[in-house]
Amino acid sequence: MSSGCLFCKIVTGMIPVELVYEDDVCIAFPDINPQAPSHTLVVPKEHLESLADVAPDHTELLGKLMAAANEVAKRKNLARGYRIVVNTGAQGGQTVMHLHLHVIGGRHMGWPPG
Ligand code: AMP
Ligand code: ZN
Repeated sequence: MSSGCLFCKIVTGMIPVELVYEDDVCIAFPDINPQAPSHTLVVPKEHLESLADVAPDHTELLGKLMAAANEVAKRKNLARGYRIVVNTGAQGGQTVMHLHLHVIGGRHMGWPPG
């Protein structure tokens, strides 16, 4: 828990969200500003600023986050495909400094991204 962190407040229940998925290491909930018909955030319960801050002992956590993202995609009926995005740092477009995976789908995502 990092005081002042928006996603820590969501993880602890201070800010209520619609839970899409939860397990021992993460929660998933809808993005408030969806970029596609389906847009869900997978957020670890542990406060880590970004992917740039993970250490070797976080590899199990990272695997669980990816598996959770796939479970979210199943629950959101994204059988035709989806995109995982992990914005990292200011130039990577990260605005909330608590590691999170975007699970985006429901339309063709296009490549390269804008
Ligand atoms: P990023 O820009 O990768 O750091 O992503 C942060 C995401 O959090 C953005 O897509 C926002 O729309 C989303 N977001 C911000 N506040 C909330 C909130 N209260 N509930 C759900 N999603 C949020
Ligand atoms: Zn946090």
